[in-house]
Amino acid sequence: MRLDKFICKSTELCKHQAIQCILAGEVSVNGKLVTNEATQVHENNTVLLSGSKLKARDFRYILMNKPASTVCSNIDEVYPSLFNYLPVDSVSELHIAGRLDADTTGLVLITDDGRWSFYITQPRHDCAKVYRVRLSRDIPPESANDLVMQFERGLPLQGEKRLTRPAKLNIIAPKEVLLTITEGKFHQVKRMFAAVGNKVVSLHREQIGDICLDVDVGQWRFLSKNEVESFI
Ligand code: URA
Repeated sequence: MRLDKFICKSTELCKHQAIQCILAGEVSVNGKLVTNEATQVHENNTVLLSGSKLKARDFRYILMNKPASTVCSNIDEVYPSLFNYLPVDSVSELHIAGRLDADTTGLVLITDDGRWSFYITQPRHDCAKVYRVRLSRDIPPESANDLVMQFERGLPLQGEKRLTRPAKLNIIAPKEVLLTITEGKFHQVKRMFAAVGNKVVSLHREQIGDICLDVDVGQWRFLSKNEVESFI
């Protein structure tokens, strides 16, 4: 594989950072300084980064159904960490591609591949996330179309300069909707409904890209190769 990819696979560095290290003369292969990021390396080669030997490892890609009252951080806070539900090695190397609030439930994707999670979380990659939202106030039938258009046009969120990106609102019942968004600002869904005078009472993520939630609350599974590659 290419040297920059090897470095990404064996460290926490993204591609850009790996290339910077190579260009800065910090990388050697089998004892020789290498400054071309496209150099092909084999798993058996000795690759040193700033003098430390790198070992390529396989990335892990996990889907989990997040229970309520858990936090998407590696350390317990007011609520226990979601990672307590994950009996795998080196849990501290894992992170969540698109965190959920403590009271939000549903689909989370967990990985140690920073480049992969970048595809999921960066708005310009247009990765759709689908949320089932329960609301405190009814959406009156006569204003339903107007509301759908407002979400489609973009909403002003408090403290943000730009409108939200176009979002798809599917009204299921007066107090229940499916909302599809392609960005993940802090408390985004709750703030979008606050912007139209409503309040979220429960929030559940059902889908990210083509991946739908298919395990019970608190359960998890590894993603298939096709699922992993569906984001790239
Ligand atoms: N939007 C929110 O407001 N909260 C979440 O947990 C996810 C999206």
